[in-house]
Amino acid sequence: MLKGRRAIVTGSTSGIGLGIARALAAQGCAIMMNGFGDAAEIEKLRAGLEKEFGVQAAFNGADLSRAADCEQLVADAAKRLGGVDILVNNAGIQFLSPIENFPPERWDAILAVNLSSAFHTIRVALPGMRQRGWGRLINTASTHGLVASVNKVAYIAAKHGIVGLTKVVALETAKSGITCNAICPGWVKTPLVEKQIAARAKEEGIPIAQAEHDLLAEKQPTDRFTTVEQIGALAVFLASDGAANMTGSVIPIDGGWTAQ
Ligand code: NAD
Repeated sequence: MLKGRRAIVTGSTSGIGLGIARALAAQGCAIMMNGFGDAAEIEKLRAGLEKEFGVQAAFNGADLSRAADCEQLVADAAKRLGGVDILVNNAGIQFLSPIENFPPERWDAILAVNLSSAFHTIRVALPGMRQRGWGRLINTASTHGLVASVNKVAYIAAKHGIVGLTKVVALETAKSGITCNAICPGWVKTPLVEKQIAARAKEEGIPIAQAEHDLLAEKQPTDRFTTVEQIGALAVFLASDGAANMTGSVIPIDGGWTAQ
């Protein structure tokens, strides 16, 4: 379905980003991976995409907390893949603390990675998309782009911010064959959430399985995690022709979290 398309997926060395990269590659899309991690592990993932799906897969280790790295990632993808048709802004980090004790440097880091990086990648990827008259911008926001929880002030401010950014870019590109949408996952069991489950188990002196159950019970009526494959399937739909007139949409995939 996406044969011949070329995509950047930021933060695709793990979790949701990797799920999206795999889903796009399965549809024939060339992929520029990005993110941190062990070099040998990343190379295994990159080579695995090429072997399993028969597409070109490249990797760029840009640190998206820096504007120059964001620009360089897009330029490198355009050069190595021949252009960027799909840009998935997915990299994200988390930190939990009440605002009084929230370290200012953590605030800056979260805003930079979870929000500003999307501003920087979109502004440099758009001219190529406009030239070709086709583009898909997909931002991984969160239920926390729509509602709040305690102890996540930077994350939730950034995620609400990316929802706003998504809507503005959708309006500015509305007549150009380009769409810009945000995906809002609820709980997905990735390293980012596993850390929160472990911290909760430790703090409350309960087993991991109990902490996991409590985490779901508190927010997600289905009592099930959303999977990275389900989010990958939504990203594929947003990249497809079927979604050509969907833009500025903010789409929860959250087991009923935000229906409450
Ligand atoms: P994860 O920790 O598994 O993956 C995060 C990815 O971002 C990794 O590849 C990591 O290397 C990369 N990354 C982190 N800092 C980076 C930087 N400075 N530069 C480049 N790459 C960087 O977490 P995940 O759960 O897969 O999160 C992916 C996205 O989904 C994030 O934006 C997160 O906020 C969002 N999200 C996650 C959940 C969930 O329940 N897991 C829910 C809603 C939204």
